[in-house]
Amino acid sequence: MLKKCKECGDMISDKATSCSKCGYKTVRVGNRKSGCLWVLVLITGFLVFSVFSDRRNEEEKILQAKINSHVVNKDIEKKFAGLIQDFIKTGVFYKVEKFGDVPHVYIGKIFKQVGIDEKSNALKVAFIYFKNLDPRVKVMSIYDGYSGEHIGRFSESGFDVD
Ligand SMILES: [Zn+2]
Repeated sequence: MLKKCKECGDMISDKATSCSKCGYKTVRVGNRKSGCLWVLVLITGFLVFSVFSDRRNEEEKILQAKINSHVVNKDIEKKFAGLIQDFIKTGVFYKVEKFGDVPHVYIGKIFKQVGIDEKSNALKVAFIYFKNLDPRVKVMSIYDGYSGEHIGRFSESGFDVD
């Protein structure tokens, strides 16, 4: 059975513990059974990949060409990377990272203490930074830096709390 990923909308197996596209975790705690399932999913995935690899290579070439033609604004990259570093230093963010085309922002203690406008602005800075580097970026996953819990998502339409 396939189900829609809560985060990126991609179709994923209802047995998968996380989305292969964006890394969204569909279950909190894994077990032995899901380990075996993962091996099966990986083997099946490899077979499917082998069959479709020619077509995939073609699609990847097109995607890569698109990404390569995208010009990264160096001023935005530098300025916004500096702002993100400041957010991390001051405890607004705990860390930021990218999983495929979905950036993950782990929020810090200070984030919870500021108003919704400040929250949105801080997340917007991260969103613009990642989108400038990679035009495929459509949504960011927001996690609690301490518990690791998924708390929401940020896209062009704003901050959406779970
Ligand atoms: Zn996903």
